[in-house]
Amino acid sequence: MLDVFSMIFGAIVGSFLNVCICRVPKEESIIHPGSHCPHCQIPIRFYDNIPLVSYFLLKGKCRHCRAGISSQYPIVEGVTALSSFLLFAKFGLSWSYLFYFSFVASLIVITVIDLYHQVIPDVISLPGTGIGLLASLILPQITFLNSLTGILLGGGSLFLVAALYQWLFKREGMGGGDVKLLAMIGAFLGWRAVILTILSSSLIGSVTGIIIMVAKGKDSKYAIPFGPFLSLGAVISLFHGEEIITWYLYLNR
Ligand SMILES: [Zn+2]
Repeated sequence: MLDVFSMIFGAIVGSFLNVCICRVPKEESIIHPGSHCPHCQIPIRFYDNIPLVSYFLLKGKCRHCRAGISSQYPIVEGVTALSSFLLFAKFGLSWSYLFYFSFVASLIVITVIDLYHQVIPDVISLPGTGIGLLASLILPQITFLNSLTGILLGGGSLFLVAALYQWLFKREGMGGGDVKLLAMIGAFLGWRAVILTILSSSLIGSVTGIIIMVAKGKDSKYAIPFGPFLSLGAVISLFHGEEIITWYLYLNR
């Protein structure tokens, strides 16, 4: 029964994340005004604003002007609901669930904003890093020292890679936003997860980059935002980090 609630709660949070995704890049308030159709500006009534459900009842169109509603809305709500469900299954009703769900929710917002605007907002990654460090004081999964080392390794190592890339290729390959995002990931997951996140996101990012280059015939200057891959790597580390590290150490015994 609580499993169902965790999914409904996730969908409601996802609905709020959609508001953040639309308004944070424009530096608008995430509370005022209430939701309105971006096309006809008519406020959305509460019964048309039910996460996941309304989109399908309205067949993806505004009730008034019939303009299409972006599929971003149900996708973000669905992914957030699934994240809440999986984290609840892993941690149960606990501080760990609450903090790691906030962490994953931030990653979802960062991923979609980075895909749209090629920017990772500091207003999410910087407070997120602080919250992650403070959370380590009460979470059984991570020590304060591990969180602090994670921030330093996450922020420091990507900064070095970015500086080296810029020096070698005379252009910016990785933004400062990626560095701050990895610091936040380090704060929540610790230094070992930072290494795993860098390795897995680079691997998935390279494969995806090659596929896009082959499909679109673009040269290597085509910039693919790295934030979504770092976020994906972080989620893999959150759910399976210990298993992967154990497996790796076993292989290299
Ligand atoms: Zn409308």
